[in-house]
Amino acid sequence: MLDVIIIGGGILGVTTARLLSRFNLDTLVLEKGADLGEGASKANSAVLAAGFHPRGGSLKGISCVRGNAMYPQICKELGVEIAYPGSLFVAFHREGEEMIREKYKKGLKNNVPDMEILSGSESRALEPGLSDRVTMALYARTTGIIELFPFC
Ligand SMILES: Cc1cc2nc3c(=O)[nH]c(=O)nc-3n(C[C@H](O)[C@H](O)[C@H](O)COP(=O)(O)OP(=O)(O)OC[C@H]3O[C@@H](n4cnc5c(N)ncnc54)[C@H](O)[C@@H]3O)c2cc1C
Repeated sequence: MLDVIIIGGGILGVTTARLLSRFNLDTLVLEKGADLGEGASKANSAVLAAGFHPRGGSLKGISCVRGNAMYPQICKELGVEIAYPGSLFVAFHREGEEMIREKYKKGLKNNVPDMEILSGSESRALEPGLSDRVTMALYARTTGIIELFPFC
């Protein structure tokens, strides 16, 4: 008799199964594909989002920030490399700058730490390859990247 059946062996299904393995539960993952992680999880960009994109104060936004903070420990346990180079979300004109201010507000509501709005020149001091046309950037230090190429 099983305690839990998880339908779908993507990142969410297998992470849930891994968490449940810490309890005395019989868990089954059902995957319709030939292998685990063959869905959206196979094709993503490996970016560990800081959490300023989801709606401010939403479950998704708050979970994103909490998940981001959990990753160093998860990666340590699984022997996966992770780095936190941070991200620059850039604007080229007034409309883009308004979007950056909105993202910043969302980030604050989602408790994103270490975020700041930079001017164009401050952004280029961090990333000299940026275009001279960049007028503003949202710098989020907790944006990370998972090293997946060794597993490809
Ligand atoms: C191009 C792209 C880039 C992305 N980049 C990023 C990124 O950089 N960072 C980030 O955090 N997110 C990114 N995402 C989003 C992220 O990849 C997804 O949110 C995540 O992979 C979803 O995981 P999942 O387990 O919910 O779904 P999936 O990985 O799609 O897993 C669902 C699984 O369920 C299986 N399944 C479906 N129906 C059944 C059934 N009836 N019975 C059994 N099995 C079934 C499928 O075969 C599949 O394996 C990106 C997405 C895309 C498309």
